[in-house]
Amino acid sequence: FNMQKNFIANASHELRTPLTAITGQLEVILMKERNEEEYRETMTSVLDDMKSLNNTSNRLLLLAQASSETSKVDFNPTRIDDLLWQAQQEIVKRNPDYLIEVGFSDTMEEEAQLTVTGNDQLLKTAVGNLMENGCKYSNHHKVQVLIEPKKKVLHVHFSDNGIGISPNDLKQIFEPFHRGSNALGYKGHGIGLSLVDRIVQLHGGRIEVTSEVGKGTSFKLILPYPNGENLTTA
Ligand code: ADP
Repeated sequence: FNMQKNFIANASHELRTPLTAITGQLEVILMKERNEEEYRETMTSVLDDMKSLNNTSNRLLLLAQASSETSKVDFNPTRIDDLLWQAQQEIVKRNPDYLIEVGFSDTMEEEAQLTVTGNDQLLKTAVGNLMENGCKYSNHHKVQVLIEPKKKVLHVHFSDNGIGISPNDLKQIFEPFHRGSNALGYKGHGIGLSLVDRIVQLHGGRIEVTSEVGKGTSFKLILPYPNGENLTTA
């Protein structure tokens, strides 16, 4: 119950902060007659806050959806490489300086090894979050994604050479609204990883993380194959 109370308090805070900023900016601009440039500046800033608000509320909705009963979510055979390319394209369109490299391990032998059972939208959100974090938290805005089919499960690695996560933060990194002590100078709301975690659980998978402060971080997404079949021919 306490966790839920905390969650609601945190969620309200995340929504109220941009709303307060929007209200403040509009109140100030309306206090007297302004020139076109001033109106334009305020509207641009308000639009930024609105986009961020929209993004936060969408993620909260997804978090609620991913936390609800499995029966409400559609599962279908899904190609993981398609989802990765789609997420990559969408992110690079929004952030042209981000570099997202997608590759395959040498255990990759046939297309069937790329198919998992899942919800496209949710899985794309999960991989997109991991890609975006890798770029956001590293100077060169670069993340390496490696698809590694194993015998009964599919591994997808997301590795960066960024700021890293301290051992203390690592313990709480999947809790909603938790942000690392070295991440406070970066934009964010601490919703992404908790969403990734819920989505992965919903798919019967798991997520692991290793990190060293100042060196980099690596997330490993583990997803089961349909029927847990042995797909490697070796
Ligand atoms: P946000 O990025 O909006 O803060 P997330 O839930 O996605 O929210 O991440 C939670 C925290 O985990 C971040 O604040 C940051 O401290 C840490 N984190 C996540 N991914 C990385 C990464 N690739 N490198 C360093 N820190 C990370």
